[in-house]
Amino acid sequence: MEKPWPTPPHYDVVLAGGGIIGVCTALFLREKGLSVAVLDKGRPGYEQSSRNWGWVRTISQAMEELPLAVASRPLWEQWAKEGDFGYTRSGLLSLAQDQDEWQGLESWLAAARTRGFDARELGRSEISTLLPQSRGQWAGALYSPGDGRAEPDSAMRFLVRKAEAAGVVILPDTAVKSIDIQGGRACGFETENGRISASSVVVAAGIWSRWLCKTVDIVLPQLKVIASVLRTEPVAGGPDPIVASSRFSLRRRMDGGYTVAQRNSSITYVTPDSFRFLREFMPNFLKQKKLLSVRIGSSFVQERRQERQFGKGKPNPFEQFRACDPTPDSKTLARTMNRLRADMPVFEKARIATMWAGVIDVVPDALPILSPVARYPGLYVATGFSAHGFGVGPASGKLMANLITGEPDTLGRDHFTLDRFGCNGEGSRAS
Ligand SMILES: Cc1cc2nc3c(=O)[nH]c(=O)nc-3n(C[C@H](O)[C@H](O)[C@H](O)COP(=O)(O)OP(=O)(O)OC[C@H]3O[C@@H](n4cnc5c(N)ncnc54)[C@H](O)[C@@H]3O)c2cc1C
Repeated sequence: MEKPWPTPPHYDVVLAGGGIIGVCTALFLREKGLSVAVLDKGRPGYEQSSRNWGWVRTISQAMEELPLAVASRPLWEQWAKEGDFGYTRSGLLSLAQDQDEWQGLESWLAAARTRGFDARELGRSEISTLLPQSRGQWAGALYSPGDGRAEPDSAMRFLVRKAEAAGVVILPDTAVKSIDIQGGRACGFETENGRISASSVVVAAGIWSRWLCKTVDIVLPQLKVIASVLRTEPVAGGPDPIVASSRFSLRRRMDGGYTVAQRNSSITYVTPDSFRFLREFMPNFLKQKKLLSVRIGSSFVQERRQERQFGKGKPNPFEQFRACDPTPDSKTLARTMNRLRADMPVFEKARIATMWAGVIDVVPDALPILSPVARYPGLYVATGFSAHGFGVGPASGKLMANLITGEPDTLGRDHFTLDRFGCNGEGSRAS
């Protein structure tokens, strides 16, 4: 642990969380000339932002989030000219296994078309042209040529370097314990190394945002979902576009291997929060229930114990969990790999190089929160990306920076306010 700061440093903006959202926000703020620091309890980018599938997609994004996805593309493309982190406009092919799935894709396309969007449906022959490796019988497919892929770990290293070169101060191993509120205003963070003061503070702490907000009695309805992933060794002759289906999903990697996972294999464990937020999450859960398996385990008791340790003067689990690195569900991944091998003979001999898992932060309507906190001027929240934050990270950072400096944009900020959960102002619910 580092020694405490002798005098509290001061910045225009300090962010808790060095994932893609924190780092992109910091970068755009710095480009506007502000002094900015990003604090991370561990290594920046080590949680969701470097563990994800690496899809930069628009297909199947909620209509409210599409502007963020579309506005992120040119930013990814610009940055890919500055550094090699595997960004490629590979296109994305979303395959329907049955009529039910096809109807879902078709209705998304109908809504997206009215917004002048570039995805289109593919006929059978076009599917086999784009995906000659598959011998599956698909009920239909959508294709978006402008979607792409990047290598999350390399992309995060690139972004951290870029932000530092621009003058952002990035402090790893600096856990934020609570938000410093004085005279009703947010004016810094209490960290493990002492106080850091700022004119504006941002909570961009991924799955930990709920608990950081709770230290000042803001009840953020956020739950956690575990998703498992595998990487193969290089495979010759595999597909170039990203392939999304409920049987398997895959993306080609920079090293010629594939990142493989299964869309509908996420797990959520029942915790005290599952009951607290049952009403808010139920409608979306019922829509998505095929994608999620609900499990009961020791996590209920563990979380109950842990949640009493958050807050001013408490032991503070943020310091104990420098990096959230859950065990992958190897059984499900092995099953996914077998399905892929059966569908695409090029993967028959593909060897699994490694497996990992990540914990995704989800909110009831699966739309991000990019919002000021009305109750505490100077406090902002950027979280809740519900499994889409990597691709839309660049434009989300831009939106957040504009929000903090009071500049307008057309990225639909009204959809992303805390107000929608009733936990923004005076008299919000407590829990
Ligand atoms: C397996 C998996 C697959 C995914 N696939 C995709 C995909 O293909 N495309 C896509 O767009 N999205 C995908 N996502 C989602 C995407 O990765 C996330 O939405 C995005 O990375 C969220 O970024 P973030 O900055 O909000 O959070 P994170 O990346 O989780 O960063 C939060 C940071 O805050 C730090 N922190 C937390 N608490 C504190 C504290 N108290 N003090 C200091 N620091 C703190 C953490 O250490 C962490 O580094 C996937 C996610 C997973 C896990």
